[in-house]
Amino acid sequence: MEQQCDAVVLFGATGDLARKKLLPALHDMARAGRLPPRVIGVALSDWSDDDFRRHVRDAVSADGNGPEDESAWRTLAASLSYVRGDYTEAETYERLRATLHGSRCPLLYLAIPPALFETVVERLAEAGLNDDARVVLEKPFGRDLESARELNRCVLGRFPEDAVFRIDHFLGKEEVLDLLVLRFANTILEPAWNRNYIDNVQITMAEDFGVAGRGAFYDGVGAVRDVAQNHLMQLVALTAMEPPVATDATALRDEKAKVLRAVRPVDPGDAVRGQFDGYRDESGVHPESHTETFVALRLEIDSWRWSGVPFYIRAGKGLATTATEILVEFRRPPQLFFTRHDEPPPHPNHLAFRTKPGERVSMAMHMKAPGNELVSRPVELDYAYDEDREGPRLDAYARLLSDAVNGDQRLFARSDTVEEAWRIVEPLLTGAQEPPHRYERGTWGPAAADALIEPHGRWHDPAP
Ligand code: NAP
Repeated sequence: MEQQCDAVVLFGATGDLARKKLLPALHDMARAGRLPPRVIGVALSDWSDDDFRRHVRDAVSADGNGPEDESAWRTLAASLSYVRGDYTEAETYERLRATLHGSRCPLLYLAIPPALFETVVERLAEAGLNDDARVVLEKPFGRDLESARELNRCVLGRFPEDAVFRIDHFLGKEEVLDLLVLRFANTILEPAWNRNYIDNVQITMAEDFGVAGRGAFYDGVGAVRDVAQNHLMQLVALTAMEPPVATDATALRDEKAKVLRAVRPVDPGDAVRGQFDGYRDESGVHPESHTETFVALRLEIDSWRWSGVPFYIRAGKGLATTATEILVEFRRPPQLFFTRHDEPPPHPNHLAFRTKPGERVSMAMHMKAPGNELVSRPVELDYAYDEDREGPRLDAYARLLSDAVNGDQRLFARSDTVEEAWRIVEPLLTGAQEPPHRYERGTWGPAAADALIEPHGRWHDPAP
């Protein structure tokens, strides 16, 4: 049993992420009886404890009607204090140390601008605040392979890996664990889960909205850095990894790292970048921006299980719908007995695991069509997780924060997987880039993405 943190220290307590996600998550933790006794906000604003308490109350109040759960709010309010200070100054950390006096294993959450990660980590260590503490880092973990390595070097020079929690809220969603159960609690899948039976894998993360007012941020990032390097590579790892020897964090993360090591760096010729029409008119976006709002890639995994099976992944904004789906397409039967000669051959079987919206698993099979003819028709066998779920799911941030407080690293990214994921996409980030293909909003991206997958058929576009 890991030690429990007795305090949460929130660097960036006055910021956007704290207001939208972290403070409501602390309220959820209080409601679930999982809140550590002390929550200390640290930021530049010249606030008192009471100012911070008012800010937190606003953040956890639905539509200005006060907190949803008064008793949880009272627990949270009693835990709060605030330390004012500049992160670049040593006195800030002295004040924090005095406030933390007597704390064992504080959780240091860095919800701060990425440019300050290293400074804060160094200052924490100089003040001795890294002893017996855990640190939570928000994505992005670097901008490319070299900066990710530098960040890892800086952090791991001051905190051991088992005290570092790299948060990617996408990983905090229960669906990720559901995918592991689907794969490894069903013996019928494993014998077919390889190059002998699988033709290709398609992973789509589509958003029907644009940059949602965050143009200035997004324009410096793009789809490869924003979601392909992290969210999509995590889904590739979960789909492709070998069965772990146990369900603990080390065993799971070992398998993820191992399979990502086997993924070849993307050949830029196997990638399509796109930009939706109208992106350059968004506020904060450069009028001649070449930032991609869409990317489609073909990945190759050099392993016994996957050699020769392409993994097609794509992510984009301004697409036809909002959905995240993993689709595993099986090979066709060697002979097609049950098709009419005047019709195209039926699509092969596939298994689709949809994480958003409305988590479901469906298996496309072929059944005999009603009537006298001996022909098949496609049928979807479908399971929707929500149909037998009781009560709401814990929000991803509340779950991840609780896990970090309890020292459970299963849903957090380890330094080696972060670096492997950067290694895979690195060829797309360096060297001269062709301008992105244009695409109309509300479509499935540029036509070049269809050409990319053509040797293996077509994209299965997730339903709305
Ligand atoms: P933000 O709104 O700009 O907040 C930055 C926070 O850092 C504020 O609390 C600010 O304090 C504090 N700060 C900045 N410089 C400081 C300094 N020199 N000394 C002391 N305090 C300082 O940023 P954010 O949007 O919350 O993002 C925080 C992190 O989360 C970033 O790494 C971001 O990439 C990541 N993230 C954000 C989102 C999101 O939706 N916002 C989503 C995913 C990941 P004052 O306000 O008091 O100046």
